[in-house]
Amino acid sequence: MDDLFLKIVDGTIPSKKVLETENVLAFHDIQPAAPVHVLIIPKKYIPSMNAVTEEDLPLIAEIHRVAIEVAKKLGIAESGYRLINNCGPDSGQAVGHLHYHLLGGAKLGALTS
Ligand code: ADP
Repeated sequence: MDDLFLKIVDGTIPSKKVLETENVLAFHDIQPAAPVHVLIIPKKYIPSMNAVTEEDLPLIAEIHRVAIEVAKKLGIAESGYRLINNCGPDSGQAVGHLHYHLLGGAKLGALTS
């Protein structure tokens, strides 16, 4: 399987890590769309949000906990941030491994653009 983010998890492709837990990795996006742009991913392969199962829900909670920690660590917890998941072609999902964009560090634009 050619999964870019699994290669980031195993270190084959380098990344700028922000935080890591047993099941979740947070690292800086290579093409930031905001002053703070961090990707938060499960270490295990899940192709998209559509593939999340009941059994994955603790993992999704862990991703949220990591998002809060990342926002605190990077100093944007109080100023505010956005957590986005793109799922499927219309959303623009380009990488087929579940990931959440954590964006902040500036006033963000409209959601739909
Ligand atoms: P989109 O590119 O439309 O945002 P996704 O929601 O699938 O689609 O997001 C994939 C994200 O992964 C992009 O923001 C892209 O910049 C980022 N990315 C791609 N390759 C790397 C990499 N090697 N390291 C860090 N981020 C990466």
